Amino acid sequence: MMMESDGWILVGKEDDQGRSDAQNVHDSFASDIDKFVDGLRACLWPLNTYIHDTPELAFKEYKAHKVLTEFMQSQQDWQVTTSAYGIETAWVAVYDTGVTGPVVSFNVEMDALPDIGHACGHNLIAMASLAAGLATVEMVKRHKLPGKVVVFGTPGEEGMDGGKIRLLNAGAYKGVDISLISHPGILNNSPLVRTTAFSVLDVEYFGHPAHAAKSPWLGINALDALIIAYNAVSVLRQQTMPTDVIGMHISNGGAASNIIHAYAAGVCVLRAATVSRLKELQQKVSDCFRAGAQATSARVNIKVTDGYADHVPNRILARLYTKYWNMLPDVPNPPIPMEGQFTWIQSSTDQGNISYAMPSVNASFAIPPGPHGGQPHSADFKEAAGTEAAFLRSMRVGKALAGTAVDVLKTPRLIDDIKEQWRQDIEGI
Ligand SMILES: [Zn+2]
Ligand SMILES: [Zn+2]
Repeated sequence: MMMESDGWILVGKEDDQGRSDAQNVHDSFASDIDKFVDGLRACLWPLNTYIHDTPELAFKEYKAHKVLTEFMQSQQDWQVTTSAYGIETAWVAVYDTGVTGPVVSFNVEMDALPDIGHACGHNLIAMASLAAGLATVEMVKRHKLPGKVVVFGTPGEEGMDGGKIRLLNAGAYKGVDISLISHPGILNNSPLVRTTAFSVLDVEYFGHPAHAAKSPWLGINALDALIIAYNAVSVLRQQTMPTDVIGMHISNGGAASNIIHAYAAGVCVLRAATVSRLKELQQKVSDCFRAGAQATSARVNIKVTDGYADHVPNRILARLYTKYWNMLPDVPNPPIPMEGQFTWIQSSTDQGNISYAMPSVNASFAIPPGPHGGQPHSADFKEAAGTEAAFLRSMRVGKALAGTAVDVLKTPRLIDDIKEQWRQDIEGI
């Protein structure tokens, strides 16, 4: 099937599900965004390479912060705040039409991993969101659309102390209606991505020391308490759900083998499909910890550290993203799954916390893999994330994210439907 309109030619291609690339009728925004972002490539490619080749750890993204904010400052009509909200490497760029309307936002990640550099491909996330923000504003200007476009430089995604959570708590997202971001991998192209919620439980037992041979009856064995807890957790695993993950190790197993141990400690990492399930799991694991204390008379101290919430994707935003992704020329493999089909990624992101605060899309996109087919957080993926082919995929993502935002800005009351969907999703959890 071939369709032609306004010089924009779409060659339809039936896929396995019998859908057609050209099923969605021509939308001039898609071709305009496509051309505009292609025009940005020459200035974004050097930025991409610089960030990829200059890896900086969480909250130390000083160089990325500098080049990205300088770049945004060089763009007309953007208000740029460096070191925003008291976070050295956070930044905010705002384009305000001055006309009341939806506030759409994009998150730019910048941090790399210890030793293996940009093995999570955050350079590509940055480029997709920059392209999306700039293309959205270009369409806003050309078509006199209302509202506001915000690009957030969000540091420190790797680890437990998410920059997005810090920004959320500081009020950075106040008044923002939607948040859009993407993440590279090698397996999926999907805007309907769920990630896991996680938390860390530290457990300590305080016993009473005694000579193990002369007077063990005077002691309280903290290590015994920990072993009972460890075994109780192992038994608990038989009754957990397939999406629950409990990992545990002993971080302090006592001082010596000829004394009754006065102190022992362990660390437990929990993952679950949702924050509410995570809370249930925390309760169950804490009960196991208390069982160790009860059995031995040791005193127990449990510390819960919240990690990231699961990501709740917005279906309406995902539908818009899919529409643009499939309208752009040369749809790459694999195709986006059927509408409503979630893609589960067994990892966690602070965009999850954002998704509990407002409608969110965290689009997964496949880049051409490295020679060893390495997944994110491998040296192989780091190489793959620095290639021009990967950069071009990030540009395609930027186009689809921009289309999503433009639809929200140009369609009256669509934002209300998106927010209603979000409310139902969050209440459902
Ligand atoms: Zn990562
Ligand atoms: Zn990542």
